Amino acid sequence: MGLGDWFHRKAQDSIATSIPNPAGCTTLYAGSHSFSLPERTSALVYTSSTPPNPDDFRTGVTITLNVATGVTSTDNHRPNVERSMVFTTLPVTTPRDPSLVEKPPYWPTYVHLSEEQRWMYLTWLQNPAAAVDLGYVFLYFYGLERRLLTSEFDPAFQEAMFLREHHEEGSFPEFAERSVLAVCTIRNRPDCARKFLTRFPCVRLNNVALLVMSRLDMGLTAEQLMGSANILKSGGKEFKKTYMSSHPTLYRACLEEILSERFERKDMPFADVLDVVEGSTTEQGLFANVSIQSLVPSVSILNIIQCQPFLDRIASVLSETYETVKERLKSARKGFDGSAVPIEPLLDTPTTTCPACGAHFARTPVSGRSCPSCGAVLRLRTDPDTHVRALMTEAQVAACDARWKERRLRSFVENAASCLDTKYADVYTAKEDLSRKKGSPALYSEVLLPLYAAKMREHARSMSWGLWRNDHYAVSELYRIGEQNMDELEALLAVCYIDANGPNNTDPSTVSLYPSFTPFQLLPVFAPGLLKRIRQLLPQLQLDEDAEKTLFLESAARVRNKYMPVSPETAWTMFVEAQESGDDGGHRAPGSA
Ligand SMILES: [Zn+2]
Repeated sequence: MGLGDWFHRKAQDSIATSIPNPAGCTTLYAGSHSFSLPERTSALVYTSSTPPNPDDFRTGVTITLNVATGVTSTDNHRPNVERSMVFTTLPVTTPRDPSLVEKPPYWPTYVHLSEEQRWMYLTWLQNPAAAVDLGYVFLYFYGLERRLLTSEFDPAFQEAMFLREHHEEGSFPEFAERSVLAVCTIRNRPDCARKFLTRFPCVRLNNVALLVMSRLDMGLTAEQLMGSANILKSGGKEFKKTYMSSHPTLYRACLEEILSERFERKDMPFADVLDVVEGSTTEQGLFANVSIQSLVPSVSILNIIQCQPFLDRIASVLSETYETVKERLKSARKGFDGSAVPIEPLLDTPTTTCPACGAHFARTPVSGRSCPSCGAVLRLRTDPDTHVRALMTEAQVAACDARWKERRLRSFVENAASCLDTKYADVYTAKEDLSRKKGSPALYSEVLLPLYAAKMREHARSMSWGLWRNDHYAVSELYRIGEQNMDELEALLAVCYIDANGPNNTDPSTVSLYPSFTPFQLLPVFAPGLLKRIRQLLPQLQLDEDAEKTLFLESAARVRNKYMPVSPETAWTMFVEAQESGDDGGHRAPGSA
């Protein structure tokens, strides 16, 4: 069956499962649910009412060994059934809380989504402009890549532009750019390639975009030149970035002047330098959708980002800009009366604009200073979502820090959940249930502690005392994230006591040959980071040495078992000595006997 037939067959399938309705939307029936998709979207989504064949979605490499000859052969298994195909017979389930549905995996396929993920995906397709986990955006885009290769190029191109417009996150812009430009080339549609590159100028310079740009005689803009540091570096070019970040506006202005002097245009053309060289080529995959990769294999294209004359031209333009900026700054500093001379149009970067009154600063103020125009105290913070570093007011800082904290907490709990063989969603739900029962907010430690206790019992049973020790440490982290300082300290002291004993991972059958605990004869046995954290906690809890000792002995007694040779009293002495000798690093870690 040829490519064309295949598309034809699937296109017919989709008629059976979606029925246009009067509101400019089309109803898609999947599982026992119905979804109201925009007509343009529903026309582009691949659907099938016949059940999937699981074998069609198996990917991987099969290695076969010929026993007679000893020769191995490999077979790349890349099925070409569309990964985004919505099999409408597969079940779909409405999640109780959509925010708790697990993220779809990398390289998703509709078939392999969970029932709740399918609901998430189809619900999002009702409005593909909405924010959603990137996996779903890619899944829809996979189908668009395939449509771009069919007679539906034009509507698919419009939809790809639409999708790119609304989804800036992660690697999506790069993948979208690559396949859209590749298809525009294959289909000989320079008009669409230009439209795409004009609307979304290439941010990370790459061979496909550069090749298309050179064919369209589009040059590198000042912005793109300033962002070309990565390719200059990988091409072994040294250049001075100094003023690019300290005086971006002046730098850009000088760069634009140089471009118009040298090339009589606003950008740096480069098609001419590519013509004169016999550059090396590189193998380039074109599509994000692996089920297309087997139909349209990777191509060999000119390795422009490694092409010397191209790199030389960028480097020469940037070094001339550097010298010009340096000159201008020098002459500006020589004001007649020694007063500051305004040397450049005021900057509008997030680190040089007051978020309270909009005043511009010549350079980024020190975090904690107040704005000279409005007096607001300004701090520098990096936004956890956009990763943009910006000046913020106290209120913005509080909100930003809260989001950081939430993000750290979530990733901590996600990690803990996976170590404990459970799911974030289950942990979260358990915590919410507990909060409702108690009538006050529950802590993650309340939900996770029983799970850690079970892990500890399991490790103790199998005589894996090193892992058992790590469980205790994990519990201290759990308390730390919940800001339960006293509990954290007790857990850390227990870990110190275990470390003083030198825990080993053994197993019940070899316990007579290999001891469970082998205390070190020489100091230090305590991890420096651990001691440091304890030293932070003590003053916070206002504990003196007597109180600390009592706590140490109690914590030690709580975890001690018959295999541990070092008594709590002896361990305390070792602990005090270690604290006095300080932690200058370079020690061997506990357990490395
Ligand atoms: Zn201000």
